[in-house]
Amino acid sequence: MTNESQLTVFACRMCGHCCTGRGGIIVSPKDLQRLSVHMGLTPQTVLDRYCERMGGKWQVRCGDDGRCIFFRDGKGCAVHEGKPAICRAWPFFRGNLEDPLSWELAQDFCPGIDRHARHEDFAAQGRRYLREQNLLASDPSCEANALILKD
Ligand code: SF4
Ligand code: SF4
Repeated sequence: MTNESQLTVFACRMCGHCCTGRGGIIVSPKDLQRLSVHMGLTPQTVLDRYCERMGGKWQVRCGDDGRCIFFRDGKGCAVHEGKPAICRAWPFFRGNLEDPLSWELAQDFCPGIDRHARHEDFAAQGRRYLREQNLLASDPSCEANALILKD
């Protein structure tokens, strides 16, 4: 869930679709530091309580309801200010910025994406947002593959 008011191509509707399903919420070392400070817990405690190792990377665990362990019905993300980069970057994933077909599929999945926006505007705003929010990746070995890499 992204939370930037200056965006015109996207505004989160808090439906929770992107917080559903196991895997994909990558926790890089930078994310772990952010979560740890936000939650007032040691990094090791955050890993032990809320994360699991999958596909060679740390990821946020899924609860019994099939949703991210931090998702709360009616309230959304319980760690909003500390959530990982992959959550802050959505829907501006590399595929959605580079491929109009992926972007159309993302529109079906995420009601927050403006269906009337042009793809080039979505991509331009998305790239600016990722730069401004320091959400460009530099190490694919521990960061999410869906993030745009720094030049
Ligand atoms: S799918 Fe879209 S609208 Fe729904 S919670 Fe995620 S970002 Fe928000
Ligand atoms: S950390 Fe928050 S925004 Fe990210 S998937 Fe979990 S509940 Fe959703």
